[in-house]
Amino acid sequence: MRAVFLGPPGAGKGTQAELLWERMGIHCLASGNILRDAVRNGDRIGKEAARNMERGSLVPDELVTDLILKRLEPLGSGDSFVLDGFPRTEAQARALDQRLAQRRQPAVDMAVDFEMPAEEIIRRLAGRRICGGCGANYHLQNLPPKKPGVCDRCGGELQSRADDDPETIRRRLVVYHEETEPLLAFYRAQGKLRAVRGDLEIEEQYRAVVDLLRREGLL
Ligand code: AMP
Repeated sequence: MRAVFLGPPGAGKGTQAELLWERMGIHCLASGNILRDAVRNGDRIGKEAARNMERGSLVPDELVTDLILKRLEPLGSGDSFVLDGFPRTEAQARALDQRLAQRRQPAVDMAVDFEMPAEEIIRRLAGRRICGGCGANYHLQNLPPKKPGVCDRCGGELQSRADDDPETIRRRLVVYHEETEPLLAFYRAQGKLRAVRGDLEIEEQYRAVVDLLRREGLL
């Protein structure tokens, strides 16, 4: 099963990709997490990525594409994976298809659109928290840590994401609309686009995702 998760920020893509990994062992690559790791490491790629991420803009295609496609290399033809947040542009989607074809690996089976009304996106993002130590994701209402402000996994301090402030959120939504939404048509034209509701509670959404994957014969 090779799926890409599309949809605006805050629609549950990352949470569901992580649950599929924890409960079913499906590999999950989240481009935002990989970029935030690079920013924490402070290397060249991290510095360049940070400039765009702080503003809510996309990181340049060449940089993200190389970073993500390298992480796919260790996976074999039989490995299932979910990509969360990649591709975000048509150029990235074409680069992904090309790389899989070059390596004689199966193509992407499905693109899942996490559909979400704009008002709900703002509400969701306002409650989102991230661990400054290990990058684990939480939500004050939907996925609270056991102890307020403290990461369950590593004991690190929870913070708001720097790009979850209202102005940057607005910018990210514009970027989503202009650069990523066209990908829906790209995958629809290939008959690969499916949708789940982004405004469901976590376990309900998990059931919707698993049902969809089963219906399509991918699980
Ligand atoms: P996310 O955690 O998926 O919301 O991503 C956070 C930020 O990382 C985005 O606002 C972009 O600046 C950057 N980013 C993540 N994935 C990509 C991608 N595929 N292409 C370009 N920029 C990305």
